[in-house]
Amino acid sequence: MIRFFLLFLFTTTLFSAEVHRDRWLNGETYLVFLEKNSLPIRPLYYNLDKDDQRLTEEMRSGVHYQILRDTNNTIEQVLLPLNDELQIHIYKRHNEYKFEAIPIISSTKTEAFSAKVVSSPNYTIMKYTGSKKLAQIFTANFRNSLNFKNDIRKGDDLVMIYKQKYRLGEIFSMPILQVAMIEMRHKKHYIYLNDDDRYYDEKGHEVEGFLLARPVRGARISSYFTKRRYHPILHKWKAHLGIDYAARRGTPIVAAGSGTIVWAARMGSYGNLVKIRHADGYETRYAHMKSFRRGIRRGKRVKKGQTIGYVGTTGRSTGPHLHFELRKHGRAINPLRVVQVTTKKLKGKEFKAFVKLKKNYDESVTLHLKNETKFKRRVKMPNKCYIHSLKCVTDEAAKPNN
Ligand SMILES: [Zn+2]
Repeated sequence: MIRFFLLFLFTTTLFSAEVHRDRWLNGETYLVFLEKNSLPIRPLYYNLDKDDQRLTEEMRSGVHYQILRDTNNTIEQVLLPLNDELQIHIYKRHNEYKFEAIPIISSTKTEAFSAKVVSSPNYTIMKYTGSKKLAQIFTANFRNSLNFKNDIRKGDDLVMIYKQKYRLGEIFSMPILQVAMIEMRHKKHYIYLNDDDRYYDEKGHEVEGFLLARPVRGARISSYFTKRRYHPILHKWKAHLGIDYAARRGTPIVAAGSGTIVWAARMGSYGNLVKIRHADGYETRYAHMKSFRRGIRRGKRVKKGQTIGYVGTTGRSTGPHLHFELRKHGRAINPLRVVQVTTKKLKGKEFKAFVKLKKNYDESVTLHLKNETKFKRRVKMPNKCYIHSLKCVTDEAAKPNN
């Protein structure tokens, strides 16, 4: 039986305990955080298994976390969000501090707005919404298919429909673009998020993004990327922030993209690890290697497809495989969204399904255009945050998917 906790919403006090909301500082590490708050390092770090220890490295600067203290100013609970789905929960029970990883409960809303183009889409979206994130996801997705410089006309239409996560009334995590339309020289251009998690234009051609090669040729994927998953045997929440490619020992591993090697040495549970820095803040990681290829060392530039090492099982690994990670500005993202050899063109059944999806999207876009849907600014609730009460109840949203 799995324990779950009821989330409580409250202002500043709960049973005369106090909640502090703070930001994770740049360069702050989990160990420094424990020390700073006089939390015991042994039960909360050294006694954890390797996976949980690795999770503690996922804290990112700028993330809001919560600390609940009792009237004596003693820490009762801490919530440290690791990504948009999983968080570390530190809590006191029988005078001992415990560590667990638990899901973050959030709700998702579909939102939309239409706007008249003022100048660049970036400027226009900022002006209408004040949201850097919305401007970012719009331009990032159209960047390789449209030339905004020459073809922008004042007064043209722009529509965005996206999904936004909320955590008790507050915006949380990056919005996910569902469909976007921009008119240029009286022609409407669209991108759609398809069921396969990739973006396509109105003809079903994939919109080119950051292209990565498969790091091991012909290998089977033995474990997929997940920000949270429930381990049925260990009865614990875990994350797998990469893709595992099962392959025989000694199989060549190639650079998934061109870039500069920033690490080629052992690193804890990763075993023999290569990190490559690419353009635009991307980084790829190749773990558990048997050995590196000769000449592969820090500072060396490599081309996409170039062999960098060989599949092995060094570090924390149960058999020969490549653990492959993709990070953007340090944050782990699903490599399958970008790993591809060429851009895809939807055909047959896939195309039929896409056309259906597109039809629904197009109808929404037309509706938002007609209604001139305005961007709704959310009311911030700065004094409200949540923490787990120790009362045990089950929560539908938090149930593991078995
Ligand atoms: Zn792995």
